[in-house]
Amino acid sequence: MLTKLTTTTVTRICTGRKPDGSICNAENALAFSSLKLGVSNSRVGFKDKDLIVTPLCTTCMKANEIFNRTWDDLPETFPTYRLRAATNFLAKQLKDASQIDAGCLSDVMAETSDPPVILDDWPSGDGTI
Ligand SMILES: [Zn+2]
Repeated sequence: MLTKLTTTTVTRICTGRKPDGSICNAENALAFSSLKLGVSNSRVGFKDKDLIVTPLCTTCMKANEIFNRTWDDLPETFPTYRLRAATNFLAKQLKDASQIDAGCLSDVMAETSDPPVILDDWPSGDGTI
């Protein structure tokens, strides 16, 4: 789960399972530079320009997470508004920094707009979502 977002760091709490069945719950502070907007695999013909895949958890080495940029125009009262807006903010930062998956590059560069829901005052404070 994405819990904190600044312009340099993305923090997530790992929901992977340990060998004893308990939840890992490790806090992973990921460098912004370790992420890309989009995922593709030409071998299987898959690409999705709206996904951001995190590296594997550094504690359990099993679980990663996928953040999904969304294009819905949601009201601020929508239950997951802040999380979606923060994810879209992260995606825009990655796009602006040209950290884009090579297989998705042409599709992302062809976009004429960004998702409508992006927190415009982000990051604020310590970046907690
Ligand atoms: Zn973990």
